[in-house]
Amino acid sequence: MENDVKEILISQDEIIAKVKELGQQISKDYSEDQELIVVGILKGAIIFLSDLVREINLPIALDFMAVSSYGSSTESSGAVRILKDLERDVENKHVLIVEDIVDTGLTLKYLLDNLHARKPASVKTCTLLDKPSRRLVDVTVNYNGFSIPDKFVVGYGLDYGETYRNLPYIAVLKPETYQ
Ligand code: 5GP
Repeated sequence: MENDVKEILISQDEIIAKVKELGQQISKDYSEDQELIVVGILKGAIIFLSDLVREINLPIALDFMAVSSYGSSTESSGAVRILKDLERDVENKHVLIVEDIVDTGLTLKYLLDNLHARKPASVKTCTLLDKPSRRLVDVTVNYNGFSIPDKFVVGYGLDYGETYRNLPYIAVLKPETYQ
């Protein structure tokens, strides 16, 4: 698996430090008496989410949504579909959406509109990675780990055809891997 890596864009140490920083900021921005539901977007966000929540010093609940994404291609179809919905009602609760990466912004825009309609007390967004140059729709990212160039990346939860999610860093694959 590591032989397929062309370049490590963000190292494991950089990720660990950034996740700690994000967790501390989130812990400051919410209070103990606010009911906070951290919503992980499957599957890409699970590794980030599991590290992040252990850096959040607040009582939180966890829930998950799964939406359709790239499949094995590297281009977004733009179509978003809910494959798995939340188990909990979020009305009057504070929601923090945790994403692996914001690219065109279409997925996050869809999630924000969908969750706002459920009348939560607030909705904020947290992403490990952001590709601002690819944005097609305007979305607010409240917490961002790293802004990256327009490159297809894998690792730390992000896949290519379901592989490479367990790499402990963010990497770009060798071009021959895509053939
Ligand atoms: P958006 O809707 O913002 O275009 O895309 C969001 C989703 O596309 C992400 O949650 C992720 O699943 C996928 N995606 C976007 N860019 C990349 C990338 O560089 N690598 C991988 N593995 N997935 C990506």
